Amino acid sequence: MGYEEFHRRSIEDPEGFWGEQAQAIHWHKTPERILDYSNPPFRKWFVGGETNLCFNAVDRHLDARGDQLALVAISTETNETREITYAQLYREVNDFAAVLVALGVGRGDRVVIYMPNMAEAAFAMLACARIGAVHSVVFGGFAAHNLALRIDDAAPKLLIAADAGSRGGKTIPYKPLIDAACAETTSPPPHVLIVDRGLDPGSARIEGRDVDYATLRAQHAGTDVPVAWLESNEPSYLLYTSGTTGKPKGVQRDVGGYAVAMALSMWSIYDIRPGQVMFTTSDVGWAVGHSYNVYGPLIAGATVILYEGLPTSPDGGIWWKICADYGVRTMFSSPTAIRVLKKQDAKFLTQYDLSKLEYLFLAGEPLDEPTASWISAGLGGTTIIDNYWQTETGWPVLALMPGVEMKPVKFGSPGLPTPGYDLRVIDEVTGERVPPGTKGVLVIQPPLPPGCMTTVWKDDARFLSSYFSHFEELLYSSLDWAIQDEDGYTFILGRTDDVINVAGHRLGTREIEEAVSSHPAVAEAAVIGVADELKGQVPIVFVTLKQASADADAQHATAGEMMRTVADQLGAVARPARVYVVNALPKTRSGKLLRRSLQALAESRDPGDLSTLDDPNALEEVRRVLARGA
Ligand code: ATP
Ligand code: MG
Repeated sequence: MGYEEFHRRSIEDPEGFWGEQAQAIHWHKTPERILDYSNPPFRKWFVGGETNLCFNAVDRHLDARGDQLALVAISTETNETREITYAQLYREVNDFAAVLVALGVGRGDRVVIYMPNMAEAAFAMLACARIGAVHSVVFGGFAAHNLALRIDDAAPKLLIAADAGSRGGKTIPYKPLIDAACAETTSPPPHVLIVDRGLDPGSARIEGRDVDYATLRAQHAGTDVPVAWLESNEPSYLLYTSGTTGKPKGVQRDVGGYAVAMALSMWSIYDIRPGQVMFTTSDVGWAVGHSYNVYGPLIAGATVILYEGLPTSPDGGIWWKICADYGVRTMFSSPTAIRVLKKQDAKFLTQYDLSKLEYLFLAGEPLDEPTASWISAGLGGTTIIDNYWQTETGWPVLALMPGVEMKPVKFGSPGLPTPGYDLRVIDEVTGERVPPGTKGVLVIQPPLPPGCMTTVWKDDARFLSSYFSHFEELLYSSLDWAIQDEDGYTFILGRTDDVINVAGHRLGTREIEEAVSSHPAVAEAAVIGVADELKGQVPIVFVTLKQASADADAQHATAGEMMRTVADQLGAVARPARVYVVNALPKTRSGKLLRRSLQALAESRDPGDLSTLDDPNALEEVRRVLARGA
């Protein structure tokens, strides 16, 4: 079956299509109904079916592949590599689950997990899934306040944490952050379970509250913990969006629909079959980390690589070395990470045998054409595939599906809709579908397919207002601005909030960023619109350069060239009014440009919710250059 037929069937006969896909996972009890859409836009998949994510990710593979590697956790921070087979994973997860049970955690209880990319983070997630506890993983790089907000929201029975994280060789003790978060929240967990790597011998434990994983494990080692069979629509986990556009939203995911979506996406999009190797460079704290560092590859019976460390340490070749060492077939990373590598010596791309590396998938942000071309040329035989999705969707909305039929890659576009996604681009005002080549808002016709969020945790009203109330018709939208071509390929132009209206011409930030990035000196660009008396808005540009230069004249000349490049490529209307050269751009912890804060500063407004800002210095520098003028 070709791609078109596969996709058409998923839209025209969703129950038939998903009923078939559901056979890829183990059901303790067969679903009574494939889809219940009696309360739009809420929908329930696989109603009455009983299953378990941990059973599907671990137990189910024991007979056929107990001795196969399930998880390889590589840390260039602690210089440790742990190779864990499915049989060993079963043991680790059961021991962990036994400790959770001993601490009084049960079905439906929330557990907050605050850990870096270490094997125990995956064990803890799977252990929660096994007993039906709802995990909420908080990115290990978040500060106390972010942790406190997520604890408040989840009201967890337990917090599981590492003693410390490490970044570029610098230890970041978690205990002081945990103590501060617990002091700030109104619902501190009764226990904090600490997985101690010996990185932080200094911090004192709080008697009665803090418990040590290794000590408790020793008491329960070897226990087989029974699987909790959950109804397909019970919550499996909570996860917050990146907070690029405002306060993060607590995405709630189900069990059965998610398992089926993971199974489908692994073979059809990532082209991974049992026994093959996938390397995802994400952090377990993000949506990509949940789906493709843990659940997807393990449900598929594949081997997954979890990496803790910088992409440039010990040198810029580390990820390619890992690909060569483990015969990685599919790698998954982000455009931001590739732009970091772009500043490194290109020789690293050719130092290792990458003959097994079929695909590099990139997601999370627009993949600009210059970056795509650079990595594609550098890697030679590897196919670069952009894919577009959201924390909300849990798996790609737009991608190419080499496991079904490989369609041509068009750089600049994440490709075509994946199964179950009935997409269109509509006019913001009239709600009408726009013709190919015309810009508009990307919307999804509900019901949302399996794997997508079921609601915002404890907040159905926010689910409706954030995603379903933008248009007269009941349509899902996260308000991304897009354009489709004659072949049905979608190009994402940025968020509708970021659209720049210059004298009546609507320009996506992404189009201008792409043009700026085609200048050879540019490493990364952020474009925003600022109010202008004459034109309504004008674009202004912030850039980082591949090679920093303090020479003001040279910078001035480069800025002029960039303005000309944009005008040449997109027309005079798009010509940036100003170009500011900075050392770093403000980003969220998940690596996304915080354009709304740049814009607020440029218009002398309050920069808004900065709880997910990565490096405060970047924003301070922007303040300084704005005050000084270009
Ligand atoms: P918040 O919803 O809290 O404002 P966020 O939207 O950045 O934050 P995520 O779920 O991490 O939270 O990101 C999803 C968004 O990232 C998409 O809506 C889109 O704007 C952008 N995005 C993801 N992948 C791509 C891609 N391949 N090309 C272009 N944009 C992408
Ligand atoms: Mg969003």
